[in-house]
Amino acid sequence: MDATNSMQTDIIRTTIPTRTVKVGNVTIGGPQFTVIAGPCSIESRDHFLKTSHAVKNAGASLVRAGIWKLRTSAQAFQGLGQNAFDLIKEVKKETGLLLVSEITDPRQIEEVSEFVDMFQIGARNMHNYALLKEVGMTRKPVLLKRGFAALIEEWIKATEYIRMGGNEDIVLCERGIRTFETATRNTFDLNAVVFVKTKTHLPVLVDPSHAIGLREFVPQLTYASAVAGADGVMVEVHPNPDQALSDGRQSMDYASFNQMMQQLEKILNLIGRPLQKL
Ligand code: PEP
Ligand code: MN
Repeated sequence: MDATNSMQTDIIRTTIPTRTVKVGNVTIGGPQFTVIAGPCSIESRDHFLKTSHAVKNAGASLVRAGIWKLRTSAQAFQGLGQNAFDLIKEVKKETGLLLVSEITDPRQIEEVSEFVDMFQIGARNMHNYALLKEVGMTRKPVLLKRGFAALIEEWIKATEYIRMGGNEDIVLCERGIRTFETATRNTFDLNAVVFVKTKTHLPVLVDPSHAIGLREFVPQLTYASAVAGADGVMVEVHPNPDQALSDGRQSMDYASFNQMMQQLEKILNLIGRPLQKL
């Protein structure tokens, strides 16, 4: 058996306890359910600060926020990029929250290492093996989103590029796939969640916001994911979704997120998988 094959058999097993992944003091994949929440993209210091406080108070244990955005249109808001660095440091200091943020280019790794606690690899970059290898050489946890046209097998195999450099701290994230259906932004593949939970040892999160693209249905997908055994969710939240610079249609406002979290906690208690608290 060659090296690639043995790596594959190592990762594709039927009964393996989930490997837990630590992001600071937060454990993903353990007995508790993790909620990551925050804006699609950072829009200003005030916007990021208020939203970080709001999601933390509602029970999220990690904040998400985009610095660089990969948009379909080159004319659309591309994220604040380097202009966000100082405000991120300030907000993190003030809230104590750990940040999950997408990197879109290997050169960004060094730039953001000081204040990004978990690297997100977006759906568009799941096949960007150069980027995967680079994050694999760091010792920071990686959230690997599924490409919107990627087979489960391709998604699992993509993790091998990260593991190559010795980084085993990988969390998978199902974010919906492209199908013939256009009523929703993507099609949420719950099959994939239960499948990869059994076939790999990695923790699996769900991003219901991108999966359905409609904020009013994010709670139902969140509850279903928890009951199906996902290790957590990542949800987009904005103070005024209709004014958001990206992904407003799928972003929840503070009040609805708070309400969802209360309901989620009840469900999590029923299924014996309590919400992870800071
Ligand atoms: C995001 O999380 O903001 C994002 C761009 O997601 P995806 O890569 O899944 O489209
Ligand atoms: Mn988004």
